[in-house]
Amino acid sequence: MSQSTNSELPTFAGHPIGLYICFLTEMWERFSFYGMKALLLLYLTKYHLFNDETGLNLLGAYGGLVYAVPVLGGLLADRYLGMRKAVVFGGVLLVLGHLGMAFEGHAGQRLEDGTIVQDQFALQVFYFSLALIICGVGFLKPNISTIVGRLYGENDPRTESGFTIFYAGINLGAFAAALFCGWLGETYGWGYGFGAAGIGMVLGLITFILGQGQLHGRAEPPNPDMLRQKIWGPLNREHVIYLGAIAAVFVIWILIQAHSIYVVFVKDKIEFSLVVMVMHLFSICLLIGIAWFMYRHCTRIEAHRLWVVLILIFWGTLFFALYEQTAGSWVLFSDRAMDRRALGVVWTAGQLQSLGALFIFMLTPIFAWLWPRLERLKLNPSKPAKAGWGLIFAGLAFAVLAWSAGNPMQSGLTALSWFVLAYLILEIGEMFLSPSGLAAVTQLSVARVVSLMMGGWFLGTSYAEILAAELGKLAAVDLPKAGGAINLTELLPKYEVLFTFSAQIGVVSGVIALILAPLINRWTHGVK
Ligand code: GLN
Repeated sequence: MSQSTNSELPTFAGHPIGLYICFLTEMWERFSFYGMKALLLLYLTKYHLFNDETGLNLLGAYGGLVYAVPVLGGLLADRYLGMRKAVVFGGVLLVLGHLGMAFEGHAGQRLEDGTIVQDQFALQVFYFSLALIICGVGFLKPNISTIVGRLYGENDPRTESGFTIFYAGINLGAFAAALFCGWLGETYGWGYGFGAAGIGMVLGLITFILGQGQLHGRAEPPNPDMLRQKIWGPLNREHVIYLGAIAAVFVIWILIQAHSIYVVFVKDKIEFSLVVMVMHLFSICLLIGIAWFMYRHCTRIEAHRLWVVLILIFWGTLFFALYEQTAGSWVLFSDRAMDRRALGVVWTAGQLQSLGALFIFMLTPIFAWLWPRLERLKLNPSKPAKAGWGLIFAGLAFAVLAWSAGNPMQSGLTALSWFVLAYLILEIGEMFLSPSGLAAVTQLSVARVVSLMMGGWFLGTSYAEILAAELGKLAAVDLPKAGGAINLTELLPKYEVLFTFSAQIGVVSGVIALILAPLINRWTHGVK
């Protein structure tokens, strides 16, 4: 990337101070993101009385869009806005969206004849708030990640440790959110939980605005004059971009309400939800755009490096298709088939989800220390190899769960200890793959498309969420009518099949990634 060397930036504990600004901003952004997500499905089904299917469809549409829009946010930042302005604008949309979520309106009512009456005005406010959040994440998430990369010089050996620390911020926010907003929302009222998430985002925005000087001009617009150019009466290009983004909020407002509409191509065979169609459209445009960019504007070396990023995005998508099951099949498995007692407490399946963020947080110092040390010993695995190890660890985590499903305790339930071990192994995998993947995107992408490629990384997650849900369906069961017990001898073999299959995906793709790593690594042309 064309930027001045890192030596100019003031540091704290060996890293540019800007890293800590990004850490805190993203910590609060993720606090609001996961705080809201923890409550979303419960709020829909318990307060507005959505049925399970419609609630899940909406959750899926939200998950898909929120990770697809970063392609646009990244593109606009690369070409016009620069990352700093994009983060501030995204932050403002997020604050408005999260605060809008705190408006509950009237609870849904079930009439005697079974019909459900919902507060339509409150629901419209809710959908609009979701649309604001989706656009806000689209502007903020890819660009704050790109800024982290820009704080370091080209091939700076501290880059990966920097991303490892940044990743701890993400998970600290996620951990606190599940515990705090989840508890507040269900105990004191939904509005309080969503409101707390919103206050978190206000703190994130304030942190970024106060701390943006620490970025020392590394996230500024590529061509400020172009941004100031009047293109529509008194409005300059920057204003028009903001207005366009606000128009996009309105489009997403409509789109998200079509969460249960499917487009059928071949009856009963090929059908996609509208949101998946949008994701396909983004992916096709992205791939065509990158191909054109490589052909027209890249040297051979730059094109090779972009190929490496695309391959890493592919491995990342597979990894997150396994990982995202922690919010799906792992929750249902621990809820239905596990003895969740430990330390004198019966933990809920929802609470156990915070194990992931907790382990990441505990593993961070180890990995932040490990990478530079391995580098000095010339033993640091290449980025494509780290992706391979990440997948293998994810596979092993599922192997542990498969074993536990196949070997329940005398009570018929599975043991919590295996579940905790599986989480630990999965998180080791995430520490290998995810921070190094983010670092790779910033180091290997040509500066002009770096945030767009970051958007591509998150678009991978958008597909991963869908794949994870599809995989989870392999262990779907019909729940017994009220009062009946779940038949564990029927249920556990299903989980054993799902977990074994997922383990195979992880280990096999990980081994392939490791075998191909030396070849792929040659295309990085020396970027570590
Ligand atoms: N859990 C991480 C986050 O929230 C990773 C997301 C992703 O890249 N899939 O940022």
